[in-house]
Amino acid sequence: MKKIINPDKNKWEEILRRPTKSVEDVEKTVYQIFGEVKSKGNEAVAKYTQLFDGISLETEIVSEEEIKAAETKISEELKEAINLAKNNIERFHAAQETDKVSVETTPGVHCWQEKKAIQKIGLYIPGGTAPLFSTILMLAVPAKLAGCEEIVLCSPPDKKGELNPAILYTANLCGVSKIFKVGGIQAIAALTFGTETIPKVYKIFGPGNQFVTVAKQLATKYNVAIDMPAGPSELLVVADESANAAFVASDLLSQAEHGIDSQVILISLSEPFLEDVEKEIIKQLPELPRNEIAKAAMENSRLIVVKDEQEALEMINEYGPEHFIICLKNEDVFIDGIINAGSVFIGNFTPESAGDYASGTNHTLPTNGYAKQYSGVNLDSFMRAVTFQRISEEGIKNIGSAIELMAEAEGLQAHKNAVTLRLNSLK
Ligand SMILES: [Zn+2]
Repeated sequence: MKKIINPDKNKWEEILRRPTKSVEDVEKTVYQIFGEVKSKGNEAVAKYTQLFDGISLETEIVSEEEIKAAETKISEELKEAINLAKNNIERFHAAQETDKVSVETTPGVHCWQEKKAIQKIGLYIPGGTAPLFSTILMLAVPAKLAGCEEIVLCSPPDKKGELNPAILYTANLCGVSKIFKVGGIQAIAALTFGTETIPKVYKIFGPGNQFVTVAKQLATKYNVAIDMPAGPSELLVVADESANAAFVASDLLSQAEHGIDSQVILISLSEPFLEDVEKEIIKQLPELPRNEIAKAAMENSRLIVVKDEQEALEMINEYGPEHFIICLKNEDVFIDGIINAGSVFIGNFTPESAGDYASGTNHTLPTNGYAKQYSGVNLDSFMRAVTFQRISEEGIKNIGSAIELMAEAEGLQAHKNAVTLRLNSLK
């Protein structure tokens, strides 16, 4: 943990730098696998599943029997917990639905806008050190609410060729149409081009390692949209003595255990409080089963003392954290002043874990500073706004000559004609 006391403004950039890596080596591999999946379909998918996951599967698609079997492997308590989370996520995302916008901009000129669901979407759920079935809730629930017709899920199989039962159970519960045991670059490539069994989709959602991230970026070159550019998870806490040092330490560690490249930052106006938190981190860390990961991540972390609230706020907006916890007496300064953050957590009893699982907000959020220009996943992420217009005879008379003049001025004669012909027909 690096402790920094009252840093000079010209040092901020260096202090707030994220531990991101270069992607050049990754890019070459991604291009190669995309090329093979595009030309050879399932044969290439099987080859890379064998290579990266060490398993040769008869078929990648998950069967009804496997889903049924998964259901028996989940405890009733966990099922209830998943249900509670699902209900809250449903309630919060259903409330995001917007009304149709309809305006008569000029007499006789009617314009309206309606949201339409993206018909086919792909969800990527990583395997590896933690089975992120909570991410299925965060993606499939709003997709279903939006009205997406086909929801395809890909996740890498384990050494036995299976998916974690919690992943299968949650996917089935949330109405995922098809589940495939395919991971990594080959999964993103399959969702991009389609194979004999895996459907091509219009938009791909979900987290992943560096390979998956670069693969999703490449997918955008083939007319596939993605949720957002991904990066390692991060948390920034601003706190004073009114916060509980043990709570703050537990929040910092909860984010640190995501991965060795996670980054956590604590900003405080008080050095003694910072030291209390540090002591708590040292106390809590060894108890965690994932302490190796959390410890490595804590090495990228920063404990910063700043001189006043305004400076703290400025620094936080400069960093643009994915998760932002506000835990101090004068919380309004930060609630009102925060501009760049993915998701904000307020008060002593609002751990970041709540948003990760069950409060109702989405946990798929912009990292790596992208909170400055991207929103987290929400209902609109699964929809597009389509505009409509109908112009009456009166309407074209009202705006026709303006269109003619503008088209003429841009040198687009055919555009002008399309209006002139209609206006003449009304004379
Ligand atoms: Zn988290």
